[in-house]
Amino acid sequence: MTMHPAPVDAGSPVIAELERMFGDFPDMPAEAILKQDLLRQGIAFEESALQVASGYKPKDYFIFSFDLVPMRDMQHHEAYRSPEEIRMTGGPYELRPTIVSVRVNPASPYVVRIVEGRLALTCGATTLAELEFPPIPEYYQHSLSSGLKISQIAPAIEWGYLVYLTVYRLCQYWGKEEECRFCDLNENFRQQRDHGREYTAVKTIDDVVEAMALINAHDTVSRAYTVTGGSITSTLQGMGEAEWYARYAEAIESRFAGRWIPKAVVQAFPKNEVQLLKDAGYRIYHPNYEIWDEKLFDWICPGKARYVGRDEWMKRIVDAAEVFGPEYVIPNFVGGVEMARPHGYTDVDAAIASTTEGLEYFMSKGIIPRFTTWCPEPTSDLGRQEGPSLEYFVKLLLAWRTTFEKYNLPAPPGYGRPGVGNAEFSVSAFMDVIRVEKLPKGREIAPI
Ligand code: SF4
Repeated sequence: MTMHPAPVDAGSPVIAELERMFGDFPDMPAEAILKQDLLRQGIAFEESALQVASGYKPKDYFIFSFDLVPMRDMQHHEAYRSPEEIRMTGGPYELRPTIVSVRVNPASPYVVRIVEGRLALTCGATTLAELEFPPIPEYYQHSLSSGLKISQIAPAIEWGYLVYLTVYRLCQYWGKEEECRFCDLNENFRQQRDHGREYTAVKTIDDVVEAMALINAHDTVSRAYTVTGGSITSTLQGMGEAEWYARYAEAIESRFAGRWIPKAVVQAFPKNEVQLLKDAGYRIYHPNYEIWDEKLFDWICPGKARYVGRDEWMKRIVDAAEVFGPEYVIPNFVGGVEMARPHGYTDVDAAIASTTEGLEYFMSKGIIPRFTTWCPEPTSDLGRQEGPSLEYFVKLLLAWRTTFEKYNLPAPPGYGRPGVGNAEFSVSAFMDVIRVEKLPKGREIAPI
């Protein structure tokens, strides 16, 4: 059981709610609860903290915006000046090191500022934690022969653990009738271009392989890479989606076999196309199902519903386990989007019950879904509303961990180290809440 210290600022409603959660869920780490609240509400930065951030790794906008305001509303140009992540420690709750992805929100109650000469996470007058920003990877100082910045082609996230290769920055699910309603991939592409950023729609295999060669030569931190991008519903450069994405791992693995764990975040394919990915060298397959609820799936993911269908999508995930092995199929869902207005659940427990049904369905088969924290990005279709309460997210963490432990599953591979104080995964606290001592014997450390 985790013991939580006494209240620090009973006058702040944000801290009062945090501490209510600490009290109601005493075996959930305080780190995980605060992390979820930071992901839910975003983070504001004082100018002095942004100045410090200039010496650290900035947000690279590696796929979506993951911000709670559009760039045009950021008066201090926080978008390109904020760090990719923060790592918090200490403070009144004696936090163990916890990495959190930065979602810019100038109106957030959580503010990063300098307190007594040091970076601090604050809420009102209370300092909650000491902070570090992520170092700039050594390989960022090298350039590509195409003239593109290496950070554009192969940015690092999760404190350097993961190289994120969004090789196609558009999605062929297009417009309101097809795009997933929580997603701002296409809008973020426009936003980045409007701000004068080199933001290539398609990354060439040559650029990607050259970047990986530089990373191989100059980096000792990265352990995995993700290849992903928008869906390809017709063709791209004459190829279907599975073939198109397969080529990237094929090219990287033919040069650097086994150097990283290769992961593909793409659609749920029929088995023969899943085999293409496996044969290309991918070791982990993420056919993201986004939301479990049957009716809401059709509303939230209209393109996926129309082109593939919800039942077929789920069936393909299960079938993929025969190709990759169940624990190497790790579908993502968007935590909280089942409570989106106007058609989502209004009751937290009903929402959690629905999502738990999905966790049961997959985890009972050895497949381990994971989740990202829904960020209502303002240019997405669902972006003009608040996400669910902190209580929802704490209950989601609990439901995830309870089901995970019920089926005695191992820590998911390709996600870095499990457990509070260890986790690198930054966009939800699912890795932070894994109790290492309860993992199956011999599987306490995930294969890196
Ligand atoms: S499939 Fe959905 S979530 Fe993925 S990029 Fe396209 S619209 Fe976004």
